[in-house]
Amino acid sequence: MTSGVGAWCHWLCSPRVTKPSVTFKEAGERHEPEVEPEEQSEEELTLKQKLLQRLKRMNTGDLLRQIRRNISSFSVLPDSEGDLSWDGDDMATEPEISFAVQELQAYFSDWQDAQTDNFWQRKSRKVVISVVVCAQEDGTLHALRGMNTEVSLPSGSLCAERAGIARAASEFFHAKSIKAIAVLDPSGEIAPLWPCEVCQSWLAKIREQNPRISVVAFPCKDHEFKTILVQRNGKDVRPPTCVSQKSSQFSKHVLEHT
Ligand SMILES: [Zn+2]
Repeated sequence: MTSGVGAWCHWLCSPRVTKPSVTFKEAGERHEPEVEPEEQSEEELTLKQKLLQRLKRMNTGDLLRQIRRNISSFSVLPDSEGDLSWDGDDMATEPEISFAVQELQAYFSDWQDAQTDNFWQRKSRKVVISVVVCAQEDGTLHALRGMNTEVSLPSGSLCAERAGIARAASEFFHAKSIKAIAVLDPSGEIAPLWPCEVCQSWLAKIREQNPRISVVAFPCKDHEFKTILVQRNGKDVRPPTCVSQKSSQFSKHVLEHT
């Protein structure tokens, strides 16, 4: 039987994707700023003068793009760098993520009150819920709900994440409008619960339309929804408030040594 592709794959695959290997090299290669070639005449200049010259040559758009790239590379760090959990302040910096958490909490509340049909989880006997966040061009956010659906056929089952993505497509949202996806095991047995390898493959395909999709998981079994973990491209994302602190330290270091 191949029906294990569905919700069962959360049980089987999640431990393998919970702690992806992350290296500075990968992040560095992807976010390496495009630096203009050195000119011979600059060799005698101090570092500060070189930086000022480069800033003068850049237009505002180039400068902003480089700053964004550097911030992105700072935000992808290995587990060994400390606590990766996001709190309310971190979530507030990313509207799509805070919206995903708020909508998943509402979905969880509805699930608790609902008269659910166990037929839909007849293989795993386990419910997983997810919310896919899509953004319209004017910035309006929409949440599309998904629940794992298992009818017990060799063709496989549908995970909550893919059910949410299919719901977004069915509501005519474009793939590039998908900004975030949050996943929860309502029973609290698996926390955090990350998308299985099949769902990760779907997200990899969708990233061809939008390379920045945040995946949100919940590390607390008691569903307090105040702490989350975030991954992008399968890599842990450091909480933004920590990045700010680190960036401040980095800026201070640069200023003191230039
Ligand atoms: Zn899956």
